[in-house]
Parts: sequence; structure tokens; C-alpha cells
Amino acid sequence: MNRHTQYSIVVPVYNEELVIQTTYQRLKEVMDQTKEHYELIFVNDGSRDRSIEILREHSLMDPRVKILDFSRNFGHQIAITAGMDYAEGNAIVVIDADLQDPPELILEMIEQWKEGYDVVYAVRTKRKGETFFKKKTASLFYRLLRSVTDIDIPIDTGDFRLMDRKVCDEMKKLKEKNPFVRGLVSWVGFKQTSVEYERDERLAGETKYPLKKMLKLSMDGITTFSHKPLKAASYAGMLMSGAGFLYMFIVLYMKLFTDSTITGWSSLIVIQLLFSGIVLLILGMIGEYIGRIYDEAKDRPLYIVQKAYGIKNQNICRGQHMS
Ligand code: UDP
Ligand code: MG
Repeated sequence: MNRHTQYSIVVPVYNEELVIQTTYQRLKEVMDQTKEHYELIFVNDGSRDRSIEILREHSLMDPRVKILDFSRNFGHQIAITAGMDYAEGNAIVVIDADLQDPPELILEMIEQWKEGYDVVYAVRTKRKGETFFKKKTASLFYRLLRSVTDIDIPIDTGDFRLMDRKVCDEMKKLKEKNPFVRGLVSWVGFKQTSVEYERDERLAGETKYPLKKMLKLSMDGITTFSHKPLKAASYAGMLMSGAGFLYMFIVLYMKLFTDSTITGWSSLIVIQLLFSGIVLLILGMIGEYIGRIYDEAKDRPLYIVQKAYGIKNQNICRGQHMS
């Protein structure tokens, strides 16, 4: 393995033809300032636009540009994972392709790394140009995740971060099929610190994270790091049977010692709907876990690389290589 590469920048790319050119330029400008050897690993996550052609042009001109071309869209988290599998640098930086994460911040991260920190993650103090809905749900999610998980996942932090080689090596041993990368980084531990930044608007194009993908990501976060939702079933069950038991006495008392009879079609329906709702919800929650257990049991490769450009390192551990 080429240990002379000091920095690896991993960039997941999904339909980013409008921005990728500028992203490359900005990253290059920033990384040139370090005066050290670096590589830019673009992971093309099954883009259906011209992203791969544009990347290809860059890689032909600049040998530091490397490309992993997936056989289809495997998802943002898996794209990052693959980039980390192939990265050769002593420090690995993960950054979005849409320039919402300012590349200039990488220099600050590098400073902290040189001070001796193993993970430097970027905390968003502000998010510009995103919908109210996205900001609110994201903020809520980070707080919910924090309250249900047992490990310390930093709040308002995405995947924009720098990791030391040893952190990356430990992460490579984790072969989860539904990886929640930012959680796994916290899980492996080591000396971690943060830098703050204001999240810019996406340079062009639209978000590649529709509600469906956001939900999947948050479910991955919760299920991989917490068993609490499973326990919720037992608590809800205890509460409900307790309430039912009490109510039974009230009904018996009224039947035996008073003249009033309870009429209650509507209340019965309400209770019926409420309880079957809760039961189905809990069943669904259990289903989320079972589905993930099934994914692990099938043990399929995490991703398929149909073509790699400029990459020597064939030591991939979590995916499959075709060529
Ligand atoms: N992305 C990806 N695969 C996907 C969805 C997104 O590789 O299935 C990449 C995308 O190209 C971008 C990053 O992940 O570099 C973050 O996506 P996006 O900016 O759309 O998310 P948002 O910032 O809106 O949450
Ligand atoms: Mg974005």
C-alpha cells in the first residue's frame, strides 16, 4: 500500500453533473495549499447523468483523481464506506459533492489532526438554503438519536469529517449491511474533536436525499445503536394491561352495585383503533430490526464496483470488484 499519500478525500457522487466540476476545482485549490500528497476519491453511486463522464475527464488529466464506479445506486452511506475501503491516505476526509460542506474547512481539520486528534468532525451551527421541514426534522432526529442511543453521537453533525488512518482501519472491520457511518465513527472511539461551520446552500441541482432516504437513514441510526424501541413494546404492554385491569374493577363495581349501565360503542371503537394502532406500530418497529437481521444473514457484498479508475489498492473488504 502506498503510505506516501498523506490525505484521501472521499466524495460520494449521485447525479451531480452540475456541481462536480467546481467541487473538483475547489478541493484541488484547498488541498494544493497543504503541499502534501493527496488523492481525491470520487465514488459514483450509480449516477444517471453525466457525472461519470465529467469525472473521467478529470481523472485523465489529474492522476490524483480516482474513481470508483458503482454498478447501481447503493446509497450515500455505502458510497462513503467504499471510499474509505480504498483510501490510502494517513488521514481520510469525507465530504459531500455539492459544496454544502466548505472544502476550506479541511485545512482546519488537518490542523487539529496534526495536534493529535484522531477524528475531527464538523458541527453545523447554521444550515442555509434548506427547507424549514428539513432543518426541523434533522434537528429533531439528532436529538432523538442522542436520547435513545448508548453511545455519544455528536449533535448536528453529518458525515463531513477527518479520520486518522487507524480509525479508518478499525471501521473497515465493521461489516454492517446498513452502515450508519457517523454513528460507527463514534462507536470506534479514539480521540475526537470538532470544528464548527455554517452549512452553505447546495451549489446547484436538488437534494439527493428525498424523505424516503432520510427515513431509511434515521431508522438505520436508531436500530443499529439502540434496543430501546424494542423495549417500548414491553412498557406499552405493561401500561395498557395495568389500565385494563383497573378498569375491569370499575366496570364490575358499576354492574354489581349501581343501576347505571355503560353505553359505549364510540369509546370502544376509539380504544380498539388506538390499541391496534399501537400494536401495529410496535410490530413494524420489530420488523425494522428483523429486516436488518435478515440483511446481515444474507451477507451480500455491500457494494459492487463495476469499474475503478486510478486505483491500485485491490484490498477491498466490504464490497465486490468486477474487473
Ligand atoms: N449521495 C449519494 N448517493 C445517494 C444520495 C446522495 O452518493 O443515494 C451523495 C450526494 O451526491 C452528495 C451527498 O451524498 O454528495 C449528500 O447528498 P445531498 O447533498 O443530496 O443531501 P443533503 O445535503 O440534501 O442532505
Ligand atoms: Mg447536500
